[in-house]
Amino acid sequence: MNILVLVKEVPDMEKVKFDQEKGVVDRSSAEAEINPFDENALQAAVDQKEKEQKNVTVTVMTMGPQRAEKTLRDAYARGADKGVLLTDRKFGGSDTCATAKTLAAAIRKIGNFDLILCGEKSVDGDTAQVGAEVAEFLDIPHAYYVEEIRNLDHDSVQVTIENIGGDRQVRTMKLPALIGVTKNISRPKLPTVNRKLESLTIQVETITLQDLNGFMSEEECGFKGSPTKVSKIEIPKEVKKNNQVFREDFTAFLQSVTDVLTEKGIV
Ligand code: FAD
Repeated sequence: MNILVLVKEVPDMEKVKFDQEKGVVDRSSAEAEINPFDENALQAAVDQKEKEQKNVTVTVMTMGPQRAEKTLRDAYARGADKGVLLTDRKFGGSDTCATAKTLAAAIRKIGNFDLILCGEKSVDGDTAQVGAEVAEFLDIPHAYYVEEIRNLDHDSVQVTIENIGGDRQVRTMKLPALIGVTKNISRPKLPTVNRKLESLTIQVETITLQDLNGFMSEEECGFKGSPTKVSKIEIPKEVKKNNQVFREDFTAFLQSVTDVLTEKGIV
């Protein structure tokens, strides 16, 4: 069984700065890390490998600049078997459509995947579109907001989906299929020292646009292949709240709250 996990390298969102005019992330302003949802996807794949000693190979794939190779080494340290980096200056500026087309072209080129996992969304672009688009370009079934892999065999996968509003849905799909996972699907484990050291020496497969010849054209990738342009990013202004703190016994507290609500004409 071959499982592919799509991982995106994202900046540390606590520290990153945005170029608000150009509508891009200033990636040099913060350290990069694996998109947190993708850590859950990766752990879910590794859990399948460890479960019942199944013969499972876990490959991770990322599209990004050369330095995103670090993300693949990190994924190896966390239990993946192989890493594939899609990198080319011509892939730069991809919107979700061009990103998904490029990932799908590389998946077709490598072939032979039974199950593809991705995060429900990234924490930078945050569109939650790429996974479903990859599935559409590959013409395979997909399920999103998956919180549990109930059963995985050679022909099918059965998953639990967390619907908006909190109810659950169980879905069975024929393989190959793609699932987009929520944080509930797994508890990411820390890498061991041995795997970390090994990860520094593994061979990462690199795929450029030229390698995808016959699977996609230059017009379909990067800026050229992106119908969506982010024209501007605006950070919402912090709302100043006029909080009042009451340190009184409960009856006096209730009276104070009632007074404030009466004064504001709410009660
Ligand atoms: P999502 O769809 O949120 O990611 C879902 C999953 O797909 C991830 O968890 C991961 O498993 C997989 N995945 C996503 N990207 C990669 C990758 N590069 N390599 C491997 N796996 C991946 N683009 C638009 O088309 N429309 C927009 O409105 C838009 N708004 C943006 C706003 C901001 C602030 C920024 C920074 C970018 C925006 N983009 C937008 C560009 C978008 O972020 C990129 O196209 C990006 O490559 C994919 O979209 P996402 O981050 O939203 O991924």
